[in-house]
Amino acid sequence: GATIGILGGGQLGRMLSVAAGRLGYATHVYDPSATVPAAEMARHQTAASFDDIPALTRFAQSVDVVTYEFENIPTAALDVLEDLRPVRPGRRALQVSQDRLTEKAFLRDLGLNTAPFAAVDDTDSMHVALAEIGAPGILKTRRLGYDGKGQVRIMTPGDAPEALSAMQGAPAILEGFVDFSHEVSVIAARGMSGDVACFDPGENVHRDGILRTTTVPARLSPAQRTDAVLMAAKILNALDYIGVMGVELFVTAGGLVVNEIAPRVHNSGHWTQNGCAVDQFEQHIRAVTGQPLGDGGRFADVVMENLIGDDMDRLPELRAEQDVAIHLYGKAETRRGRKMGHVNRVKR
Ligand code: ATP
Ligand code: MG
Ligand code: MG
Repeated sequence: GATIGILGGGQLGRMLSVAAGRLGYATHVYDPSATVPAAEMARHQTAASFDDIPALTRFAQSVDVVTYEFENIPTAALDVLEDLRPVRPGRRALQVSQDRLTEKAFLRDLGLNTAPFAAVDDTDSMHVALAEIGAPGILKTRRLGYDGKGQVRIMTPGDAPEALSAMQGAPAILEGFVDFSHEVSVIAARGMSGDVACFDPGENVHRDGILRTTTVPARLSPAQRTDAVLMAAKILNALDYIGVMGVELFVTAGGLVVNEIAPRVHNSGHWTQNGCAVDQFEQHIRAVTGQPLGDGGRFADVVMENLIGDDMDRLPELRAEQDVAIHLYGKAETRRGRKMGHVNRVKR
């Protein structure tokens, strides 16, 4: 059978490997870390780094198709991989989503609503950005931020100098604060033939910048639900995308606003494991291997709760609850703020 290569061996890589195995594929995971959650489910290739060209070459040659669980693949790595094997989703999705400025501009050019934004590199551009956008706002590093890291709120213009120095010289983006009532996300998939299938939007609650729960159904009117799905489809089509993508949206009085996109399976899509016949992981594997997509229909209401750090102490109680599916990532060490697993509470 064919072998799927996955860049990154975290929990997403692990759950992708499980899904791939179920579909009869072998998986090779490339991750510089010595111990990774995916290693128990896949062949694990370590390397010096994600820039290790000889190691990447060997990796590509050992697989039939390359996919990934995180979007910060270095360009040099992509060059090597693309030369040898198909990389799905493709380069354009990575290019757009690796940089918040490129991403916001892409979304705006598609005609979608985003927060007002401007590039901030130094004191001068900060002045210009503040004059244009005003406060409150959020200053974010353009690259490499996740779980709310690399973000500083600017409540008044007086907060600007400190926020700027917190960026430590990294290129940043100032976003106007969006007055939203709640946050939702669409987990969308696009297959090789261009067909798009979306899961029902989930409603997301964050704590300390980290996703805490996703609830389906989300509080959305039928029109908003349609709108959310159409927006996601527009994004995937524009990128000629192959695979699963997470699209984060703000719900506002003036309509849906796109926050960010993630060109991969997404934490807010974990509910699909127990709410759908074909979950986001199987859907992604189907897409990148050129198979028809599942329709993604939902057969239950689900609340997904992340188990972060000490939440692991609650496992005995969780195990005693009815209709709670437990998903653990096999991480040896529990750390504060670390995603250790999640549970899906299913209401039939
Ligand atoms: P993730 O872990 O989802 O990748 P991230 O670090 O990339 O997160 P964002 O999604 O940009 O960060 O922001 C984290 C959270 O901060 C959002 O889910 C939202 O609650 C809040 N937030 C971000 N940008 C804005 C904004 N422009 N206006 C209001 N709230 C915002
Ligand atoms: Mg993000
Ligand atoms: Mg986010």
